Parts: sequence; structure tokens; C-alpha cells
Amino acid sequence: MKIYKFGGASMKDADGVRNIPKIIQNIKEPLVVVVSAMGKTTNAMEMITHAYLKNDRVTLKNKLIEVKNFHSKIIKELFGNENGSESFLEQFEHLEVKLDKKPSLHYDFEYDRIVSFGELMSSAIINDFFYQENLKFNLVDIRTVLKTDDIYRDANVNWELTVELMQKTFNFDISNIYLTQGFLGGTLTNLSTTLGREGSDYSAAILGFALNATDVTIWKDVPGVMNADPRWYSDAQKIDQLSYNEAIELSYYGAQVIHPKTLKPLQNKSIPLYVKSFLNPEQSGTIISSSKSKKFDVPIFVIKQNQVFVTISPKDYSFIPEDKLIEIITIFKKYRIKINQMQNSALHFSACFDKNRHTDELFEFLKSDFFVRYNENAELITIRNYNPSAIEQMTKDKIILNSQVTRKMAMFVLVV
Ligand code: ASP
Ligand code: MG
Repeated sequence: MKIYKFGGASMKDADGVRNIPKIIQNIKEPLVVVVSAMGKTTNAMEMITHAYLKNDRVTLKNKLIEVKNFHSKIIKELFGNENGSESFLEQFEHLEVKLDKKPSLHYDFEYDRIVSFGELMSSAIINDFFYQENLKFNLVDIRTVLKTDDIYRDANVNWELTVELMQKTFNFDISNIYLTQGFLGGTLTNLSTTLGREGSDYSAAILGFALNATDVTIWKDVPGVMNADPRWYSDAQKIDQLSYNEAIELSYYGAQVIHPKTLKPLQNKSIPLYVKSFLNPEQSGTIISSSKSKKFDVPIFVIKQNQVFVTISPKDYSFIPEDKLIEIITIFKKYRIKINQMQNSALHFSACFDKNRHTDELFEFLKSDFFVRYNENAELITIRNYNPSAIEQMTKDKIILNSQVTRKMAMFVLVV
């Protein structure tokens, strides 16, 4: 059996949605179709959550109208009438009912409850569209089978239970095709959770692992994994083949194509991952598998933006030995900061990380024992297969806050 995942960009308009049945109709094998929210809906849902929790009714209402209009336009094109998808209307009503209630004080819990409607609405529309196209399939609410803990916004999978429930549910007894949502999970008490932004690749991998898929395909709006983001480099090239490890490294350092957690479950069972273009489905795309990567000498550039770079040193001018390092890392973890790169010396510790809601609290906390210096709006550039001209190209006229060079990789934290 196969897993096909369609992301937001592949469903940003009615043509994108029409593409899905076209791509899946030739598949003879059992198939699970995993969908994320349409277009940029998740960003909009994040703003709705924020407005809801701040009790900013005006923004809330405007954003909600925007989300409804965006989906209604797609629905109108697909069904000839903007009320043509009953399932969507039902989900939207649930969302409105939720937003009319008073919020609890738990931000991340409310976030997952509300943001999950992005995927619930998109799968509702696709469900109704598959019916219209006379496809034989079943819709599964992923929250009933992908079981997680209650770390909202970054939930951890309960593998044993999830595998058991997935195998029971996706049994292909009644139909050859299942439709389900990416990104979402459910706690043991059936509360909604999410797996972290862009997490629906990971969902596809979890399904692939649990159901022993022959392969998993992520359908994207690019021809495959590229050596650089084609939006920034006109001469970006497609990489035909990558090993799991190489792909893990690239995604960890910020390559947007694949969610970093995606590869491990697949690697554990040697399930190949294809990254293909939904615009040209017959083209080969990129295959990520256990075979060693073909030699690809062109530099691979990965840029992570919106980085914070902080350097701290103990106020009592003491050294930073191992136990102090553990203490520092524990503080970062406490504030749910994901460190992308770090460096230590006798008196200093530096880290580059994604800005999050807790960054200011982290600084406040650190300031009691350390001198703290930081830059916001930094960029982390990783160049694999680097050469002098690649480094020159990326760092020219920029202030370098930190650099690390290994045999295969050069990393720079730059001021933007
Ligand atoms: N819709 C979610 C997001 O935009 C998950 C995903 O697209 O993978 O983050
Ligand atoms: Mg997405």
C-alpha cells in the first residue's frame, strides 16, 4: 500500500483539488491520502486563535470571514455553488460555536483545538469532492487513531497504540482508498493535538510506518528536493536521490521541503520517500531511501530565517564546564526553545534558535546569572558540499555572528 500526502500549496485553489483524483485514479494498490489545510489557512487559523485568546472580536470576525471566503471560492468552483460542500459547512459551524465560547487560559491547548479546523475543513471539502467524482473511499478522522500525549502544539506520538489503531482502522476491507488529515492527533481522552507546524509530512510517515507502506509520496509545488530554494535562486537544481541521513540533516537545518521528524520512522522500516511535483506527476522527483546518495557535488544551500542568536557568559566570570552546560541547555528546554546551532568556549555559550513566544522570558531568566547579548532577525545558513565561492556568495557584505565549518558542512549565523 501507498501513502500520498498533499500539502497546503497543492490545494491552494480549485485546480489543485481537482488534481488529486487525477493523480490517484491510476493507482491500483491500496492508498491512504493525507491532506493538510488548504493554502495558507493554518497561518490564518493561528491569527484567529490569537485574536480569540485576546478577546479581540473585530480581528477574530474579520479573519473568520477571510477563511470562510477563501474556502467558499474553492467550493464554488468545485461544486458550482458556494454552499456546495455540506461537510465543510458543518465543520465551519463547529468552529463558530467553539469561538463563541469563553476560552480557557491554556494557550497551546486552545491553539490545537482551533488550528486543527484547517485540516478538518480541507478534508471535509475533499471528502465531498471525492463523492462528486464517484471515488470509492473512506474518511478517517486521524485524531481517533493517531494517539499522542498532551504536549499541545508539539505532541509526541504514542507509537504502540497508534500502530494498533491504525492497522485496525485502515484495513482496506471496504475500499481501496482512505482519506485522512495530516498534522493532527488526539489525546487518550480525544482532545485535539498537533504535531508542530508543517507536521503533515510526519503524519504521512507515521501512517507509512504503522501500515508498512511500500512507499510514501509527498506531492509538492516544486519538482523535488532542490539544492536551494527556487524562490531565491533561479539556478536551483533538483537532487534526484538522497540518503535518509542526508535528508534528515538538510531538513533539520531548515530545508523547507520535508518536516524534520518525517524521515526517522521511514528509515526504521526502509520505506522510500518520494518528493514529487503535483504539476508534473509523471516526472521522477526526488527519492530518499537507504541507498547511499549519488554523488552530488553542487553546493546545497539551506537558509533558516527569523533566528535569534544569543551569547551568554556567567556574571561571576566562572568557567562553563559540563555541568553548567547541562544547566543552560535545560533552561532552553524549559522555555521550549529549539536550538539550531550552538557553540561553547571557556567563558561563553552561544546558541542560534527559532524565536518563539517564550524568548523574552528566557532572556529574563538568564539575566539573573549571566551577561546576555543577543541579535534578533539573524539568519542561519547551512551549505553542504561547500566551496569558497559558495561561501563567498552567501556571506558577502554580511556580518557573521558565528561560523562552524566541518568537512561536509559550513554554517554561518548572519545579521540580516
Ligand atoms: N497545515 C499545517 C501547517 O501549515 C501542517 C502542514 O501543512 O504540514 O503547518
Ligand atoms: Mg503546509
